[in-house]
Amino acid sequence: MRAGHVPVMTAEAMRYLQPERGGVFVDCTVGLGGHSRAMLEAGATRVIGIDRDLDALAQARVTLAPWAAKVELVHSDYRAIDSVLDGLNITLVDGALADLGVSSMQFDEPGRGFSFQRDEPLDMRMDRSTGQTAAELIAITAERELADTIYAYGEERFSRRIARAIVEARREAPIDTTLRLATIVRRAIPTRGYQRIDPATRTFQALRIWVNRELDGLDVFLGAMAKRLRVGARLVVISFHSLEDRIVKHTLRALEKSADVALKVLTKKPLVAGDEEIALNPRARSAKLRAAEKLA
Ligand code: SAH
Repeated sequence: MRAGHVPVMTAEAMRYLQPERGGVFVDCTVGLGGHSRAMLEAGATRVIGIDRDLDALAQARVTLAPWAAKVELVHSDYRAIDSVLDGLNITLVDGALADLGVSSMQFDEPGRGFSFQRDEPLDMRMDRSTGQTAAELIAITAERELADTIYAYGEERFSRRIARAIVEARREAPIDTTLRLATIVRRAIPTRGYQRIDPATRTFQALRIWVNRELDGLDVFLGAMAKRLRVGARLVVISFHSLEDRIVKHTLRALEKSADVALKVLTKKPLVAGDEEIALNPRARSAKLRAAEKLA
């Protein structure tokens, strides 16, 4: 596996998934294949790995090459889980994992536009085969909607000022690089001495969630996935920011109460990564893991 990407909370995820029991497991966000590899090493009979990013799938293919006969990699959005499983003639599975958000490869690889650490085209799409880039969306979206998006997905209290600055700047020239956007955002925010994080961070997070519609349909996906679990199978979800975790928490709770799904939440409180893991892997810092089991 590419240096730099370490799967998050692998031990905890495997403790819930129990791939040593064998069977078919779905990795809804295969990424670079780290969690899938752990499932296969532990004894999973078959792994279905889904990702919307073709670069990630290429990397997962390398990571999982020793188990190629047991692995099916599918370029899809996990929100299409029903058609992915139908296409493989699979009705029920023995476990499912969703490790949400962007991978460190997407973040660190040059040319993707997720990071303002380098100057590059403002793309931000996880799936570059479809949809509009961040630059395209920023060019056409009304000030009010930009402000609402940055507020909702970035929890940014200066969202109105930032949206105004964006609209003023795009009249001069297109905002199509990461550095140009970061500079506009930094200038729009009043500075108050020492900043723990770069003031552009929240806006970049917001735009990334917006471009990829990361929160849309997460609840529907979890419901669909839960219905595909065999009795005793577990669903494990790892999220990376509070907006996402809130949806996961409420949806799992609602599914627990719904009579036609029969799901039991196994994590009263979400599990978080230990200090040791956080020290080794900054991506683990904000991770929250929730798990549920399909009942008879
Ligand atoms: N668990 C992986 C890392 C996953 S990172 C590993 O061990 O390597 C998250 C991955 O989810 C990214 O590759 C991203 O492209 C993918 N992803 C995010 N949203 C998705 C969606 N809606 N459908 C499919 N894949 C998605």
